Amino acid sequence: MKRREFLSSALLAGAASAVSVPFATRPAQANLYTPRYTPDPHQWRDDEVYVTWIGHATVLIKMFGTVILTDPVLGMKVGPDSLFGTIGPQRFSRPALDLDSLPKPDIVLLSHAHMDHTDLPTLQAITQRWPGQVRVVSAWNNTDLVGEMMWKSVTELDWKQKEVLDDVQIIAQEVVHNGWRYPWERDRLGGYVSSGRSCNAYILRSKGATVVFGGDTAYTPAFSNIDQREVDVAIMPIGAYEGFNDVHCNPVEALTMADEMNARYFVPMHCLTFFLGDEDVNEPMRQLRSARSCHNTEVVISNLGQEFMLI
Ligand SMILES: [Zn+2]
Ligand SMILES: [Zn+2]
Repeated sequence: MKRREFLSSALLAGAASAVSVPFATRPAQANLYTPRYTPDPHQWRDDEVYVTWIGHATVLIKMFGTVILTDPVLGMKVGPDSLFGTIGPQRFSRPALDLDSLPKPDIVLLSHAHMDHTDLPTLQAITQRWPGQVRVVSAWNNTDLVGEMMWKSVTELDWKQKEVLDDVQIIAQEVVHNGWRYPWERDRLGGYVSSGRSCNAYILRSKGATVVFGGDTAYTPAFSNIDQREVDVAIMPIGAYEGFNDVHCNPVEALTMADEMNARYFVPMHCLTFFLGDEDVNEPMRQLRSARSCHNTEVVISNLGQEFMLI
């Protein structure tokens, strides 16, 4: 179903399923969908692993006391500034946590330079709220975007490079995605391996637990057997694939990659937040629900704001 057909049928239906985002038009801020779950990470213990999906690719992870925030985007719009304001997609769901309710992240992971992943206003807000207290990790040739902000440390990792920060080993993982911030920039997918912007997924290891944050990627076998042990949690993108499948995987491909990395648990992201792909906004979660039983990995989060504790 095309987006417009979906919008009119949503109007007629008047109700949404458990994981659907109910809205009838491209909403003004007053019509923003508010996630039905509100996570409470301040209650998370320091001897467990937790994950909650805040919105789009923004995921809050706690690994044994270390708080990690991925691709933080908390504003209403992403895109470049202009005389007329920010030009770019507007979010249709509120983030499940705002800056006031977030715990201080120890580490911010940035997968790549796209506006829906490296959101400068949100990063400015984080570094101004906790100046000199938060580490940032970016992909190859991306720290120029954030290096001037008040971070505790700035780390740039190319594929396979690793760093231990705050007791968490962080390994940059290869993905298939275009990394430019503006169309005229060089990127790795365009053949500029050393001079272009790159994109990362991240493998996070701490005290025997492994969490993978997939960033943005098309299907790739690069995730196969990334760990001799099994991966505990794979946080994978499932949206914006229609019309962009060369750089964005669909839900079945995301589940397949999770299976190929032997992931016990699956957390979806990169949907239910911005209009990006040509699929209707509820389609990624619908496809995930219908495909999940055919895969080994277990989907443990199916809506914004839900929390998962690894046992
Ligand atoms: Zn991207
Ligand atoms: Zn993206």
